[in-house]
Amino acid sequence: MKATQFHIATLREAPADAEVISHRLMMRAGMIKRLGAGIYNYMPLGLRVIRKVEAIVREEMNRAGAVELLMPIVQPAELWQETGRFDKMGPELLRIKDRHGRDFVVQPTSEEVITDIARQDLRSYKQLPKNFYQIQTKFRDERRPRFGLMRGREFIMKDAYSFDRDAAGAQASYQVMAQAYRRIFDRFGLRYRAVAADSGAIGGDLSEEFQVIAATGEDAIVYCPTSDYAANMEKAEALAPEGPRPAPTEPLQRVPTPGKSTCAEVAELLGVPLQRTVKSLVLATDTRNEAGDITATRIWLLLLRGDHDMNEVKVGKLPGMEGGYRFATQAEVEAHFGCRPGYLGPLGLQQPVTVVADREVALMADWICGGNEEDVHLTGVNWGRDLPEPALVADLRNVVAGDRSPDGKGVLAIERGIEVGHVFYLGTKYSRAMNASFLGEDGKPAFFEMGCYGIGITRLPAAAIEQNHDERGIIWPDAIAPFTLVICPIGMDRSEAVRSAAESLHDALAQAGVDVILDDRGERPGAMFADWELIGVPHRVVISERGLKDGRVEYQHRRDTEATGVALSELHAFLA
Ligand code: ATP
Ligand code: MG
Ligand code: MG
Ligand code: MG
Repeated sequence: MKATQFHIATLREAPADAEVISHRLMMRAGMIKRLGAGIYNYMPLGLRVIRKVEAIVREEMNRAGAVELLMPIVQPAELWQETGRFDKMGPELLRIKDRHGRDFVVQPTSEEVITDIARQDLRSYKQLPKNFYQIQTKFRDERRPRFGLMRGREFIMKDAYSFDRDAAGAQASYQVMAQAYRRIFDRFGLRYRAVAADSGAIGGDLSEEFQVIAATGEDAIVYCPTSDYAANMEKAEALAPEGPRPAPTEPLQRVPTPGKSTCAEVAELLGVPLQRTVKSLVLATDTRNEAGDITATRIWLLLLRGDHDMNEVKVGKLPGMEGGYRFATQAEVEAHFGCRPGYLGPLGLQQPVTVVADREVALMADWICGGNEEDVHLTGVNWGRDLPEPALVADLRNVVAGDRSPDGKGVLAIERGIEVGHVFYLGTKYSRAMNASFLGEDGKPAFFEMGCYGIGITRLPAAAIEQNHDERGIIWPDAIAPFTLVICPIGMDRSEAVRSAAESLHDALAQAGVDVILDDRGERPGAMFADWELIGVPHRVVISERGLKDGRVEYQHRRDTEATGVALSELHAFLA
């Protein structure tokens, strides 16, 4: 590939809305271009990475015995009504109407359609097990699309669905996928962890997330460095023992946090490590009169852990709850929400509580703070160890670093991760709802035992960058780099020797199957190097007239601090 034929369009500055490093670098490298909130053009450079991710996923899925198909992006609502998800799913599901007024959805996932296919085509146990997958565009109207491709509204997912004759078969299919995922993530060349995740009503341990380790990750991962134990925070919390933590003592401090809306930002502002997050808290805002007395308290949000899908709840609203509520007493609140007495106690409605809370609430050791998302931005936090009552912390039943590992083999540590894959045993949830059955060996119909398996194809490059970058730009692992090697000729327009050496090296490497690009744009060396360092091509060969006089070129890996002189005649052997 020649750079003049390709499309290199780097930017000096990232747009102001690009908050995290991967978003900034992808924009600056010209990999993506924003079209709307959470909607991006995949530019040629970005698409090359995406295609490489897809190729690895496709190869390993095929190797694991899955069969590729493609399901429509726009799907008739009838199927989604069969499972009840058309109504239940909330605003994340994009519903559209055609010219006849019929309802459709833009697929956020495809359990309904694949189950419909299975009930038509898989009629006998002899056709099982079967695993279908697709690599397809998804749309989720995320409450807060952000971080570029990390949490887009339109994104590409690999989603696979297994069909088995019984639970034991489904669990075996699940294990095949869990192993295939390990091979896939090993091949990407990223540091990741497979963690136990909540498998919802089905129970058991058959749900795992694949988390790319990165300080900026939205998820907290709990693991034991001296054993195999690893779980996401929700799962770890579910197992954690109850009981009060030591009473906090230091006084409250009000910290203004203008423009900060996430726990990570607040933690950074305060210069404290973000150790754990919880997903449920009762939050209240006070209205005060001029004398400073509280005249009204509004409950913005009540989220009891595990009961609600956070993605479906808006600030100030639970399903069936319209806007904010006003209550005169704590008892009224308890009666209204039917929550346990004492749950509200710590924050007590007569307490001077500012808005804390929404989707993500962080606890740092015994420190507590909160961040609002969307409508209500964080304006300040009550910050300190002096929580109104220590019971609050106990009630949130968090897991902290240093707690004993549930397997008894050490103590827990906590780190942040980015969910790039998820494997899940579904049981007969969808097959039952859609009456999808096959004829068993005993001649009787039975519901399919299912599993579903996702990989965030377009999230993965963002996660890779969060983990692999420096002040100059991206550092791609070879497996998913847009180009593996760049040839940078110096003075190509002036020197015929440089031009012909660069071109013949390019042709020879391309011939040998190396994914090479020749920078024939005639840029000055400084600008040329800066572009490729930003883009993150892992291997670089510089050809100059001076070097050629000694028959040498310079090789440098993106992580190297210095170049190595290599004889042109030995370059092939050197690169191999
Ligand atoms: P998250 O917890 O980040 O919202 P999820 O659990 O809702 O993700 P799944 O339904 O498990 O996502 O989908 C499978 C995979 O699709 C995820 O593991 C993730 O890699 C990817 N994915 C989900 N939502 C998005 C999104 N908005 N943008 C990009 N990738 C996404
Ligand atoms: Mg989600
Ligand atoms: Mg998730
Ligand atoms: Mg998930």
